[in-house]
Amino acid sequence: MSDIIKLLPDSVANQIAAGEVVQRPASAVKELLENAIDAGAGHVDLILKDAGKLLIQVIDNGCGMSETDARMSFERHATSKISKAEDLFAIRTMGFRGEALASIAAIAQIEMKTRRHEDEFGTTLLIEGSVFKDQHICQCKPGTSIAVKNLFFNVPARRNFLKTTQAELRHIYDEFHRVSLIHPEIGFTLTHNDKEVFHLSTGSFKQRIVALLGSAYNERLLPVSLSTDSLQIEGFVGKPAFAKKTRGEQYFFVNKRFFKHPYLHHAVENAFHELLPKDSFPAYFLHLSIDAAEIDINIHPTKTEVNFQDTKIIYAMLHAAVKKSLGQHDLSPKIDFDSSSDHGIDFGDISRLNRVVSPPTIQINPDYNPFHNLGGTFKSTFRPSNAPVDEKWRIFYDDSQEKESQPLIDEAFNIERQNVDFRQSVKYLQIQGRYIVTSVKSGLMIIDQHLAHYRILFEKFLRQLNEQRVHSQQVLFPQTIHLSAPDAELTQEMMPELRCLGLSLEAIGNRTFVINGTPDGFGETDAAQIIEQLLETFKNNSLIPQNDKKHTLARSMALQLAIRYGQSMSETEMASLIDQLFACGIADVAPDGKKILKVLTINELSSLIK
Ligand code: ADP
Ligand code: MG
Repeated sequence: MSDIIKLLPDSVANQIAAGEVVQRPASAVKELLENAIDAGAGHVDLILKDAGKLLIQVIDNGCGMSETDARMSFERHATSKISKAEDLFAIRTMGFRGEALASIAAIAQIEMKTRRHEDEFGTTLLIEGSVFKDQHICQCKPGTSIAVKNLFFNVPARRNFLKTTQAELRHIYDEFHRVSLIHPEIGFTLTHNDKEVFHLSTGSFKQRIVALLGSAYNERLLPVSLSTDSLQIEGFVGKPAFAKKTRGEQYFFVNKRFFKHPYLHHAVENAFHELLPKDSFPAYFLHLSIDAAEIDINIHPTKTEVNFQDTKIIYAMLHAAVKKSLGQHDLSPKIDFDSSSDHGIDFGDISRLNRVVSPPTIQINPDYNPFHNLGGTFKSTFRPSNAPVDEKWRIFYDDSQEKESQPLIDEAFNIERQNVDFRQSVKYLQIQGRYIVTSVKSGLMIIDQHLAHYRILFEKFLRQLNEQRVHSQQVLFPQTIHLSAPDAELTQEMMPELRCLGLSLEAIGNRTFVINGTPDGFGETDAAQIIEQLLETFKNNSLIPQNDKKHTLARSMALQLAIRYGQSMSETEMASLIDQLFACGIADVAPDGKKILKVLTINELSSLIK
């Protein structure tokens, strides 16, 4: 038998390498932007068609290339950035592996125009799937323009694997943020399908953050700065009051390169520690400058991981820098309990912050018929009723059979039969602005007010989403919100659902929306904040399946609007709340699985007191 081992042709080897470097349009965007920065550009335009699937073009005014270099740049391991192994330990550029262009050219059609500033003419180069098609002299501006067309045109399996335009676009925005945030000295534009999405002028780091993420960030950032001989830390952290429920704006950069680092992330999070509401994440934009010999960025093909020689020291310094920044600003009065959408906050924490407990803002719609259109176990046990809300509640909870979380409503109306004025015999007590206590047939029922309302609203919003009807209330003074480009895209995408939830929006610019309507019965709410929170829930979770989307939306809305701990309620409000709770499909468990109520039976009570 003859020998069977062969060297792979370059085109095949490049395609395999491309699999590592270019997973999706966003990876090509990242490589091209980084090349433009390495070329010393002062301005970079990114032009996209169909989320980069059809076209990714990057135009820079950097150093440009000679005719020969232009051609060389597409060879594998062709780089101007390192020439010997030692150089690996002193990398100051974004790229150095010399495989990006070769990889991209293996799986797309490329047209490059480039001209050095000192040259009179430039050169145009055409490549298709690693094959040189043409190179000729041309007239062009100094700098480089690379157009990558029909990504994966020759690898249909990968092309088919690409996500929706929206999802791919979001990945591109992520990369664009990572690169442009830390280069405020470079102007950037991003144009998608002929629409300019970003226009970033040069300025300070803070100006860049605000330009990318929206003007709200002007008030949200605290400067961080710490400097030693070996390490400088500069940047911003978000004020704790604006911490979000999902990991969002968390950016570490080292020597102007974005990186991820769970251990160092912990240093920042830890510095925030007691200032953050439970389960929320701080925003940060932190740039570490360190001797290039102290880091190794070579451990990951797409280079978002970085190894430090002494991570412990960096941890300690980061922690100290963030703590110092937080300490210099008196933050406690700004922690806005009412605007936090978390229900896991320890009540003890709130009193410690000396918050004045606000008056109840729960609004009850007297026309609301809880028996209308409900699925679930309780429906059949209930007599449909149009009686006034506070006379409707006729519930008897019986768990003497010890069926955990399976409440049974037994003969709901037997008191009525006995002709007793039920209303007078019921007393609702609110304990510590947290629990509603009332006597029921089998003993004493304790209800968590926030979780009860969470359940009620969740079912209400889910119903609205399923019915696809608009439930909103016109506002007198419409609020406007300015969003970051990805958030604006997402908002556009979610507009129909938002409308069902009562949030009527109208786009009045690329990234500006007017809120004309707020959810029925919640006239006073800060709709902009609700929308921001809904976006947060979705932004980092583009994988939420379509049918879970409604649940996720309903849950997030309900959690935000549910009555808080610490809000006092009148007896009528308590009666109405309980009334609506027991009209729910599930009355005893909150959407997040927490128990809403507990009945202490007479036996349990007597054994407690014995
Ligand atoms: P690397 O960036 O790792 O060196 P690339 O494949 O991305 O590898 O680029 C290869 C070479 O092509 C670079 O080293 C650089 O010399 C040249 N090059 C690429 N893009 C540009 C650009 N926009 N302007 C000038 N030179 C560029
Ligand atoms: Mg490169």
